Amino acid sequence: MSLIVQKYGGSSVADADRIRNVARRVARTRDTGHRVVVVVSAMGKTTDGLIALAHQVTGRPKEREMDLLLSTGEVVSSALVTMALDAMGYQAIGLTGWQAGIRTDASHRRARILGIDPTRIQDALAQDMIVIVAGFQGMTEEQDITTLGRGASDTTAVALAAALEADQCQIYTDVPGVLTADPRLTPEARKLKEISYDEMLELASLGAKVMHNRSVELGAIYGVPILVASSFTDEPGTLIHGSVAMEVRNKVRGIAHDLNVAKITIIGVPDRPGIAASIFAPLSAAGLNVDTIVQNASVNKITDLTFTVAQGDLAAAMALVQPVAREIGARECLSDAHLGKVSIVGTGIQNAPGYAARMFEALHQEQINIEMITTSEIRITCVVAEDRVQDAVRALHRAFELEKPED
Ligand code: ADP
Ligand code: ASP
Ligand code: MG
Repeated sequence: MSLIVQKYGGSSVADADRIRNVARRVARTRDTGHRVVVVVSAMGKTTDGLIALAHQVTGRPKEREMDLLLSTGEVVSSALVTMALDAMGYQAIGLTGWQAGIRTDASHRRARILGIDPTRIQDALAQDMIVIVAGFQGMTEEQDITTLGRGASDTTAVALAAALEADQCQIYTDVPGVLTADPRLTPEARKLKEISYDEMLELASLGAKVMHNRSVELGAIYGVPILVASSFTDEPGTLIHGSVAMEVRNKVRGIAHDLNVAKITIIGVPDRPGIAASIFAPLSAAGLNVDTIVQNASVNKITDLTFTVAQGDLAAAMALVQPVAREIGARECLSDAHLGKVSIVGTGIQNAPGYAARMFEALHQEQINIEMITTSEIRITCVVAEDRVQDAVRALHRAFELEKPED
């Protein structure tokens, strides 16, 4: 009998009807002879609501208690889905993340899974039960509750699939699979039949929130096949796995976007060893994530340095960078809080001529100014004005003919 881990996202469990719909789908999987472990997210926008509530109580909620609060959203869903299955006559047990044996480090709100003790789940499965685990959470060695980062119920699901050596991890959501772009921006986006871990990891890391990036990373490391599909229809979905047709005709598989980019430019930086370290060390010590970094070629030993951070981190990053800039004798620090980025992703992009030129030309045709460019083996990213991101994604979708069906 094979073992399937199914994960249902917030919109799939948003109300009582949808919870019963999830229970019916889980029951159907059980009826076809599979053992099933289910991971659930908080109902609808519950997590956003809980965060807002905490901020109504205090401007500076403690991270430990924030995790205690946020973890309740997923616990509610696991209890309700279990009740729905029970009412349908199925043997089911709901578990919190810690009851499911998920151990994490102590970095609240972005904890990493250190290990999973699957004994309790395995015992329940041995008794023919369906197990419904609250996603997005775990517990530290000191028995403090942690959460794993926004969108991380996907990571709970893939981690459990790896620990239980499941045959497949199925991620059920509000879209029919992984599409060539976010359908909210690009209605003409098309569903991919399959995609490699590498390409999916890149898309997810660059803003495609259909999968949490750490879940894709875990899938790749442990070789867990991941199916992304709709919880509302029975369409086949997208399979994320290791080997995808080697020479696909269109090397661009998808377009990702991120509307949450800010940049800092330090002008007139003396070009000497150690300067970059003195600028970036305080940012890293404060846990601020720096993304794209561009240093201009220096003229007379003076250069400009530009880098991006998340918009919410801009004020904190400026506060750290300005004193350093003064100390090293830079001329001034400028910032722009309203940027976004668009990326084309596909294995082999770097080795195929013309992809970068086609991307830049498509943006030029739309009169979209490119602020920064970065590339890796499998992607090209342009930073552009936030209010031009949607036009950019649609223009690139057309330029790379992503609406055309693959054969
Ligand atoms: P869930 O609550 O089920 O985890 P999410 O909201 O986290 O769902 O992720 C699903 C959303 O991801 C979709 O509604 C869609 O807007 C967005 N999305 C972004 N990029 C893509 C893409 N390439 N393919 C499919 N969906 C995408
Ligand atoms: N409920 C959490 C969030 O909204 C985790 C998840 O849905 O995956 O981020
Ligand atoms: Mg999600």
